[in-house]
Amino acid sequence: MVPPVATAEAETPSTYGTASPPPNIETTVDALLAAQRANRWAVSSSSASERIGKIRRIAEWVEQHRDAILQAGYDDFRKPATEVELTEIYPVLTEARHVCRHLKRWMRPKWVKPSLAMISTRSQIQYEAKGVTLILSPWNYPFNLTVVPLISAIAAGNCAILKPSEMTPAMSGLVARMVTELFDQHEVALLEGDVEVAQALLARRFDHIFFTGSPQVGKIVMEAASRHLTTVTLELGGKSPVVVDESAHLQDAADKVAWGKLINQGQTCIAPDYVLVHRKVFEAFKDALSSTIQKFYGHDSAARRQSPDLARIVNERHFRRLRRLLDESVAQGAKVAFGGETVAEELWIEPTLLEQVPEGAPAMQEEIFGPILPLVPFDDLDDALAKIRSKEKPLALYVFSSRSDAVRKVLQGTSSGGACVNEVALHFLHPNLPFGGINHSGHGSSHGVYGFKAFSHERAVLKHTRFSALKMMAPPYTDWVKKLVGLTVKFL
Ligand code: NAD
Repeated sequence: MVPPVATAEAETPSTYGTASPPPNIETTVDALLAAQRANRWAVSSSSASERIGKIRRIAEWVEQHRDAILQAGYDDFRKPATEVELTEIYPVLTEARHVCRHLKRWMRPKWVKPSLAMISTRSQIQYEAKGVTLILSPWNYPFNLTVVPLISAIAAGNCAILKPSEMTPAMSGLVARMVTELFDQHEVALLEGDVEVAQALLARRFDHIFFTGSPQVGKIVMEAASRHLTTVTLELGGKSPVVVDESAHLQDAADKVAWGKLINQGQTCIAPDYVLVHRKVFEAFKDALSSTIQKFYGHDSAARRQSPDLARIVNERHFRRLRRLLDESVAQGAKVAFGGETVAEELWIEPTLLEQVPEGAPAMQEEIFGPILPLVPFDDLDDALAKIRSKEKPLALYVFSSRSDAVRKVLQGTSSGGACVNEVALHFLHPNLPFGGINHSGHGSSHGVYGFKAFSHERAVLKHTRFSALKMMAPPYTDWVKKLVGLTVKFL
C-alpha cells in the first residue's frame, strides 16, 4: 500500500477546535432526538439478520475507503499508515466480524433455572435495546473509538447520535461521511463540533451514554447523565504502570514496552505510563529500552525526528502540556536518560526516558499521554505495589516476570481495568475479553458481547401459570398463612 501523500495541509497538523458546530445547535439536537425517539421502536424490534446487515455495510465501507482512512490518520497527526491499519481499521473490522458471527446467539433470551420456591415459573433474561443512545469519542483513535461503540449500539438495536472529537477533523469528517452514506439520521446521526455541541447533547435525555475520554470530562458526563438517571459507560484513562521484576526477560520486556508506549506517539489510553523496575536490573532494562527505541526509530535524535514511523503530538495545546510536564519534572530533579528533544513548530517530542523522577513531579502525578516514560527503581515488590496503590486505579497494568508467585502477588495486590502478563496493550484486541476501567479509569465495559450488553437492558421476564403457591399467602394473614410464610422463609 502506498503511504498517504503529504499535502500542504497534512504538514500543518490540526489545531484545537477546528471543527465548527452546526448553526442552531440546540434546534438541530432537538430535531434529531425527536426523529430518533419516533423511530426507536422500529429499530429495536429489528431482527439479528437486519442488524448484521447494517454492521456488514459498515465493514464494507471501511474496506472500500481504506485509503481515505489512512490519509485522514496522516492529515490529523501524521499517523503512520501501518498504525492506522493496526489500530483503527483492524479493531473495527474484527469487531464487525465477531459481532456478525455471534449476534444471533447473544440476542437469544437466556433461560434461567428456577429455585425451589420458583419451581412453578419459567424465567428468562431478554436483551432489550436501551433506545436512543449518545456516543462521545476522543481524538487519539478517532475512527476505532467512534465506530466500535457504534457497532455495539447497532448490535443491541439502538438509535445513536455520535459526537467525535473536534481535534481530529479529518477523521471525524470521514466518519461523518460514512454515517451519512450508510444510515438514515433517524437511526444514526453524527454531529461534529466541540464542547458546545457535547454540552448541548449532554443537556438532553438519552437512554444510554457511551463516553470515551479523560476522567475530568468523564465526571462532567456522569453528572449530566445523573440529571436524567441515564446509564453510562465511561471509558477513561489514567496512569497505567508496568512492573519489571528481576526475573523478567529484559529484552522482551523492553521491546514490548517501547512499542506499546510509542505507537501513536504515546497518545494511547493503555500506553505504559511509568515503569517500576527492580533495582538489580534497572540499568540493564534502561539500556535495553534505549537500544530498542534506536532500533525501531533511528540511532540519533535527527534520525528519529525523520522517522516515518512516529506520529506527531495532536495539537499545540497537547504539545505545550507535554513540554510543561517534561520541563517541570526536570526542574524538580528528574534526569533525562534518553531523548528529550522538542520542536514546537513540528509538534515533535522525541521518545524520552526519565529517571530519578520525584514522586511529586508532574510525570508521576498526571496521565502522560505522550512519548515520555519515567523509569522508577524498586528494591522490594511490596514497595512497587504500594506505589501503584497510592494512585487512582489505572486502566491497565502490565507485569513482566518469569515467576508465577510474583505475577500472582502483583495481580492480587492491585486493581486495574485490565492487565497483561509479559505483554503490553494486547488485551484491547482480544474479542472475548471485556475492555474497560474501574472507578477513576472508567465504568462498564466494551467490545464483543460486553459492548452488546453495555447497550442492552437485561430484562428479567418471569412466566407463570394460573397456579401459584403465592396465592396461598395472600391476606387475610390467618395463623395458617403465617405458618406457611414461616416455613417458606425457613426452607425455600
Ligand atoms: P476529552 O475528555 O478531552 O474529550 C473526549 C470527548 O469529550 C470529545 O468528544 C470532546 O469534544 C468532549 N468534551 C471535551 N470537553 C468537554 C466538556 N467540558 N463537556 C462535554 N464534553 C466535552 O478526551 P481526549 O483528550 O479526546 O482523549 C484523551 C483521554 O481519553 C485520555 O485521558 C485517555 O486516557 C482517554 N481515553 C480512554 C480510552 C478508553 O478506551 N478507556 C480510549 C482513548 C482515550
